[in-house]
Amino acid sequence: MINKLLLAALASSFGLSAAATAAELNIYSARHYQTDEQLYGNFTKQTGIKINRIEAKEDELLERIRTEGANSPADVFITVDASRLAKADELGIFAPVKSAELEARIPAHLRTSNWFSYSTRARVIVYNPELVKAEQVQTYEQLADPALKGQVCTRSGSHPYNLSLGAALIKHNGAAATEKWASGIVANFARAPKGGDTDQIRAVAAGECGVAIANSYYLARLMNSEKAEDQAAVAKIKAVWPNQASWGTHINVSGAGMLKNAPNKEAAVKFLEYLASDEAQTYFANGNNEWPVVPAVKVDNAALAKLGDFKADTLPIGELAATVPEAQRIFDRAGFR
Ligand code: FE
Repeated sequence: MINKLLLAALASSFGLSAAATAAELNIYSARHYQTDEQLYGNFTKQTGIKINRIEAKEDELLERIRTEGANSPADVFITVDASRLAKADELGIFAPVKSAELEARIPAHLRTSNWFSYSTRARVIVYNPELVKAEQVQTYEQLADPALKGQVCTRSGSHPYNLSLGAALIKHNGAAATEKWASGIVANFARAPKGGDTDQIRAVAAGECGVAIANSYYLARLMNSEKAEDQAAVAKIKAVWPNQASWGTHINVSGAGMLKNAPNKEAAVKFLEYLASDEAQTYFANGNNEWPVVPAVKVDNAALAKLGDFKADTLPIGELAATVPEAQRIFDRAGFR
């Protein structure tokens, strides 16, 4: 009897350890969308590797990875925004990944040695044609023009989306010009920064402000919405791809990297490579109305098709992310909070 129990225990512990080492992958993700089931399910179907997912806010996940330390079960960390990926990288949690497949699929400016971008989003200008003229709002720089006094709505300057835009402005125009720009934006506020990007778009539609900046997927979400109020808001506004005549529209990314203490490194690399496959790119990007990073992959998305093509900034994403702390200092001094 005892032997039988012992054998059963041994068998089950063997079973568990085999599963843990050979066929599992633990993902910590700060990103969650409707297409996730297909995204993760198809990886398991293709590889037999079971995925365990922990989803939480960025900071909670980073804290968890730090506290777990060398014993962390996390293999892959997924989050949005280059500045957040850079922050994770600074904490030293990533392990470098060298993959010919990823190098071939993901454009060089959208990856670093430690993490990879898997979708892009653009920071667009949205305006109300009853309040401002199209030619007044073609560039980010113009938003600081005194002609737009009392017209600009934006979310907090401390938010990563605006800090990343600030970093791009520093790289292209220099620190002094960016500080002047930030002061100009503040002087042009229609109201103190509040809410998210969707709130700014709605405020433009309602005529509370003439112009705002917002990530493209918030606009696309409203455009693809079947709600009458969203359609009414969209009908009131126009969108601009900023800086088409200069350095291109600022883009940001969602991305992922393998963790230094990952217990399943082989599976982690397989997963990072899978995310760059045609099929995964479609789910990953389209799930949030974003664009795939792999140039050959096109998503079937009515709003993105309607918004059309644009010239995107090609600043290396790692350089952009590294400039975010400087953008924060500049925005603080300018009172863009
Ligand atoms: Fe967002």
